[in-house]
Amino acid sequence: MKKIDLHVHTIASDGTLTPPECVHRAKELDLSAIAITDHDTADGVAAACAEGEKCGVEVIPGIEISADYLGIEGVHILGYFIDPNSPALNELLDWVIQERDARNEKIAAAMRADGIDVDLDEMRDKYATPVIGRPHFAAQLVEKKIAQSISDAFDRYLGEEKIYYRRREYIPMDRAFSVIERAGGKAVLAHPLQYEFSEEQLISLITTVRGYGAVGMECLYSQYSEQQSEYLMSLAQHFGMCVTGGSDYHGSRKPDIEIGFGKGELNVPYELLEKLKMA
Ligand code: AMP
Ligand code: ZN
Ligand code: FE
Ligand code: FE
Repeated sequence: MKKIDLHVHTIASDGTLTPPECVHRAKELDLSAIAITDHDTADGVAAACAEGEKCGVEVIPGIEISADYLGIEGVHILGYFIDPNSPALNELLDWVIQERDARNEKIAAAMRADGIDVDLDEMRDKYATPVIGRPHFAAQLVEKKIAQSISDAFDRYLGEEKIYYRRREYIPMDRAFSVIERAGGKAVLAHPLQYEFSEEQLISLITTVRGYGAVGMECLYSQYSEQQSEYLMSLAQHFGMCVTGGSDYHGSRKPDIEIGFGKGELNVPYELLEKLKMA
């Protein structure tokens, strides 16, 4: 059976492999297709697609946009088959980066006030991404031996309500959908159980995204048990949505997650991509 992974991050956001390296990793692991879904940027898409053509891995141009939903920290919307050069998309992404920069300045100032030597210009050079975020600050805290691991950095310093957490503004959710559509893409609700909603809230979220034009939901995911995936698949069927799946690969920043395999159990068949293409 042909296997795929529709949720992969590269160094263009907060992964640790370059886009071509991700494609090679997928090839080594015998995957047929991967989608590049960096946070708030499509900068990695072109290089991944070019490499995919060379080595025979189908690469889907994608993105993962964090959107505001009822003021919670951000619901993630995946966009597949987007045109990375779409003016509407890039106008939105420029705004997101400005918002991130303003927030990053606050985080850096708070760290410096505590004697932690962080410099945003150096971080931009070092990480080669326009979307510097908390994962990069977490990496700095690990390098400086202030935190033991990325997750320790989030648990003690950068998670919501921790000392270096600063809120940023997210785009309204309907705008994420309209921009994905204008960029020629198809929108999918990412990891629906990550928001820690009650069943009622979850159904309300799915009803809302369906109304905005989401064609699918990510039912197969590294963190989900078979039972959880089956539950999500039954909801997808109820709402007439495609089932999609991906690992949320981030390279060594999430070291227990492998492309295509997640924590070992993930298995996303190619036919889900075929159905998504037809949605
Ligand atoms: P930001 O968009 O800058 O606020 O950073 C959010 C990103 O940080 C998420 O998309 C995750 O990739 C990562 N993240 C959030 N919480 C954690 C955590 N507890 N451990 C590791 N990574 C996390
Ligand atoms: Zn991430
Ligand atoms: Fe996400
Ligand atoms: Fe992700």
